[in-house]
Amino acid sequence: MINLIREPLIFEISSPGKTGTRLPALDVPEKLEVLEGLAVREDIEGFPEVSETEITRHFTRLSQMNYCVDFGFYPLGSCTMKYNPKINEKVAALNSLAGVHPLAPEKLAQGNLELMKTLEKLLCEITGMDAVSLQPAAGAHGELTGMMLIRAYHEAHGNPRKYVLIPDSAHGTNPSSAHICGYTVKEIKSNEKGTISLEDLAREMNEEVAALMVTNPNTLGVFESEICEIAEIVHARGGFVYMDGANLNALTGIARPGEMKVDVLHLNLHKTFSTPHGGGGPGSGPVAVKKILEPYLPLPVIEEKEGRYYLNYNRPQSIGRVKSFYGHFLVMLKALAYILTLGPAGLREMTEIAVLNSNYIRKSLEGVYHLKYDSPTLHECVFSDKFQKESGVSNLDISKRLLDYGLHPPTMSFPLIVHGALMIEPTETESRRDLDLFIEAMKAIDREARENPDLLRTAPHITYVRRLDEVQAARNPVLRWENK
Ligand SMILES: *Cc1c(COP(=O)(O)O)cnc(C)c1O
Repeated sequence: MINLIREPLIFEISSPGKTGTRLPALDVPEKLEVLEGLAVREDIEGFPEVSETEITRHFTRLSQMNYCVDFGFYPLGSCTMKYNPKINEKVAALNSLAGVHPLAPEKLAQGNLELMKTLEKLLCEITGMDAVSLQPAAGAHGELTGMMLIRAYHEAHGNPRKYVLIPDSAHGTNPSSAHICGYTVKEIKSNEKGTISLEDLAREMNEEVAALMVTNPNTLGVFESEICEIAEIVHARGGFVYMDGANLNALTGIARPGEMKVDVLHLNLHKTFSTPHGGGGPGSGPVAVKKILEPYLPLPVIEEKEGRYYLNYNRPQSIGRVKSFYGHFLVMLKALAYILTLGPAGLREMTEIAVLNSNYIRKSLEGVYHLKYDSPTLHECVFSDKFQKESGVSNLDISKRLLDYGLHPPTMSFPLIVHGALMIEPTETESRRDLDLFIEAMKAIDREARENPDLLRTAPHITYVRRLDEVQAARNPVLRWENK
């Protein structure tokens, strides 16, 4: 990973006339007559000219400067950064599937439609819900879609309502999705166990509230064991329970949100079902609903009649399209390959190991790092920098120092209810050996915090890029390369 030679920009290694390919001499006119007089480029200013060796080495070196899940452990809490089996990529690259045009007529896309329908059915079974739309492009987009379904239902029943209740431990996308959907967010404070208090909820819940958005297990990794009572309180006043299903890696094969009286949830195929993510996508955030919300699902809906698949656009109550075409088809394929490879027993085992791995880390680092909430946790655990703060070392310093150990840092400063949070989610794909390497590094960093805090405050020391001035980067981003 580590390369101390400064890698120049590709523009800096360019020299005129160099090329990576040799093309035969043209046997056609260089410029088409019909284009004469039109705005056709004569050349591209500053276009880099390099040899094949140079371009290969340049991009290979750049790839070595980054960290990726194929390189090592990626403990980002809430992100479920699991290893993506290569078979998934192979399936998604099959030309017979990937090469189908999104506007191909239904009869030429029967295989693609069947695979999407199969995934919908599997997700219904996994979640215990009645219907699924695969359209949303990511988790946050699924949340927005789910909230639009809730709004459409309330509007159809005479009053869209005003408020959405969200616990203070929620992912930031929850309040923004509710807000974009035209709702005012009311925060519910977590109790000392880190969960929703039934009394607080009952106090806030009334006929003005459209829905409760709840993450289960929540972002502390704690299971909301009173979820059915929570749902009853919300339902009694005509509200809906929206579940943020990004943490399904803790439930799959063991517990189903549909049986927890949840009305609508989104899934992150790019988390729970192994599709690689980071760097901005593409992802896929299917929305699963109970029958009551099904009429409002986005258009089109895939239907099946006598073994033929078709797209139904004739659904007058639908909220309409939320994504061009049918969503990110290749991401769906990877998730489908993953689900079918593991099968029901494999999915259950995935969850069990994810929970075991997280608890192994929690127990191993207990006492070394501070745990604000000591409720039992599922697939992730949240420590804080409280003990290390006594030596003047913060969660940022700890994270930066981990880079020197060749490890990616955990999620930092989230959830907001844990000050100086270090949120760790190992996933089931890490071996005991890799977990131990991480645990030993975290313990070594704690010792360094007491013995040599400056070492941490100036970390990282051996990475290609040292500590960045994040304020400067945010205020004055350099987004354009100037050819000097
Ligand atoms: C990741 C995540 C989201 C948002 O998903 P995106 O695909 O990044 O939009 C929402 N809620 C929780 C709890 C998450 O972990």
